[in-house]
Amino acid sequence: MTRKLGMPQDKTSRKSDHPYARVQSDAPPTIAFAGPGPAALAVEAIEVCQAIQSVDNSVTLIANKATMVRVYIAQSGVASETRLRGEITLRTSGQGPATFVPAMNELILDPTDGAAIADKRETITKSLNFRLPDSATRAGSLIIEVNRVTQAGGDDLPLTGTRTVPIKFVPAPPLRIRCIGLRYRDGAGKTYTPDAVHFAYFRSYLERAYPVPSVIWSQIVVDANFTAPFNNDTVLDANMQIAAIRSTEINSGTDPRTHYVALVDDANGANFMRGRAMGIPATPQPDTVASAPCGVPKGFAGDADLSYADWYGAHELGHTFGRYHPGYPPGQQDASDPAFPFQNGQLSNADRKFVGYDLGDPALGMPLQALAGVGHHDVMTYADRQWLCAYTFEAIRIRLKEEDEQFAPVG
Ligand SMILES: [Zn+2]
Repeated sequence: MTRKLGMPQDKTSRKSDHPYARVQSDAPPTIAFAGPGPAALAVEAIEVCQAIQSVDNSVTLIANKATMVRVYIAQSGVASETRLRGEITLRTSGQGPATFVPAMNELILDPTDGAAIADKRETITKSLNFRLPDSATRAGSLIIEVNRVTQAGGDDLPLTGTRTVPIKFVPAPPLRIRCIGLRYRDGAGKTYTPDAVHFAYFRSYLERAYPVPSVIWSQIVVDANFTAPFNNDTVLDANMQIAAIRSTEINSGTDPRTHYVALVDDANGANFMRGRAMGIPATPQPDTVASAPCGVPKGFAGDADLSYADWYGAHELGHTFGRYHPGYPPGQQDASDPAFPFQNGQLSNADRKFVGYDLGDPALGMPLQALAGVGHHDVMTYADRQWLCAYTFEAIRIRLKEEDEQFAPVG
């Protein structure tokens, strides 16, 4: 990258050579500061991320949900590897007072890095990232502006490109979950209870991936009315049992928008109960319950952390919001959702328009991650590495809104 040429060093000789030197000497120097320095940095895009997004921010942003802003800067703006820091301003209107937010990270911009914006979107460190304060994600409009980019420890750098993006946060109801651990006994009299980690992972995943500002969560463990070994009817028994519990609790004042989900421990693989929702309602029906197995994944569906209850539970819960199967992998899953828009059950087609964002959960040691749209699959598939695609995210958002309107307790 070439740098702009500065003024000639010998100003005196230039001044005396110039026919208007006398006039100029009385005027303030107008271009004396265009000395050697970096060319302008081009802002390529400002992406506002919750669970899934396109670079033009086409996915609905949920008010009061954890939100991160990514600012992409062209590598061509630096002559050599440069560490950049940044600051954005947030305003609710053009003239309103600004909130200043510093970047969470330093961006190392390398002019020899050939990464295109699609590549950068899939690597969380290849942008300046900003976590929005809660007060900035209230329902309504927000104008995000790249205010400053500085060389670490240095001056502000000139910026070009689109420095401002207007966005809108849309109000959404919380997700209400009553999670019931069903404790069962096997033939030898040994009992199996879901570990706390499975509840924690499930809850956290719903908070991170679902189109909701928060999860109103409660959990309890009760004795199951079935025993191991399991058969095909076990999950039906589980659903019947929690549907009965739900009915009693709703009659006693529990919010009728609450979804009930059972977790059944897999006894380290010895007693695996295949999950199932009691139905896939075409209209809002929060009384539809679902049950899911839980356990340590050991690579199950590409998962190597402490629990698969998160995405598995989110899948069964997705059915209770009317979501069907995309049909992937073929042969393993029925294609009951012919409208599913992405190849291979992915989060994005090959155009890489959509990138999943997991903003992480420090309490569970989960890092902030960008989830490549082609390498990850929708939660309603049976494929590896599951997250919510934009289609599922929007569909559940709309169903939750309908449930909220139709089932809100009176008074
Ligand atoms: Zn399913």
